Amino acid sequence: MSTVHFVGAGPGAPDLLTLRGRDLLEQAAVVIYAGSLVNPALLDYTKKGSEIHNSAEMTLDEVIAVMTTASEQGKKIVRLHTGDPSLYGAIREQMDRLKALGISYDICPGVSSFCAAAAALEAEYTLPGVSQTLIITRAEGRTAVPEGEKLSALASHGATMVLFLSAGMLDKVSAELIKGGLSPETPAAIVYKASWPEQQILRGTVGTLAKLGAAEKTALVIVGNVLGDEYELSRLYAPDFTTAFREGRP
Ligand code: SAH
Repeated sequence: MSTVHFVGAGPGAPDLLTLRGRDLLEQAAVVIYAGSLVNPALLDYTKKGSEIHNSAEMTLDEVIAVMTTASEQGKKIVRLHTGDPSLYGAIREQMDRLKALGISYDICPGVSSFCAAAAALEAEYTLPGVSQTLIITRAEGRTAVPEGEKLSALASHGATMVLFLSAGMLDKVSAELIKGGLSPETPAAIVYKASWPEQQILRGTVGTLAKLGAAEKTALVIVGNVLGDEYELSRLYAPDFTTAFREGRP
């Protein structure tokens, strides 16, 4: 019985895959990739003759069946998920099924798209004097969101927010954020396909979000005053701040 390796594919650019992830892909005999989002260019890392499955066309049962057969045959299996598998990756249900079947697995983290979006925006999500918190969430669509996590409730914190899976509901996003207390003037951005050659950045405000872009699947909505111009300098690098590594000067 061989191990199933869950691998974070990164946000899209093939060279934003981790070295461990690349090694695993190169060695894999069977690859199941999330074809709706993973850049197919990543499959260039696989060896010739490897068996490739696109999970976008499969059910959970079918994915588990491919893993089970390959594991019984002692083949190296990679399950490739976009970004980091821990975010909206639906890996828990796969891991629990594998556990029940006695098939071992491990997880190789990846660069999440929210990190690639920050890089594209040249943004720091946690600016002193502005926000020290990043809320990763989604608007409610076909997947329900727990009551305490409605966008309006989360917006009331005024923290930086990154919205996954929400670019098709910009009207609703905008209205919920304003309902939660954000000013319509709060800076906002949409990043399409961060790190892909077709990457696109649209900047606006919470109030103008819906006018910024057409509904596109592979996009993140970033909201918060960290996208604005005002912030405080860090204490860490202030001349008068003493740390374990540096004596502050008055
Ligand atoms: N595990 C992934 C997220 C999967 S959910 C991660 O860590 O990034 C799918 C959603 O992720 C998409 O609807 C979109 O909101 C976002 N997404 C994934 N890749 C993206 C990219 N390159 N640019 C912008 N958004 C992306």
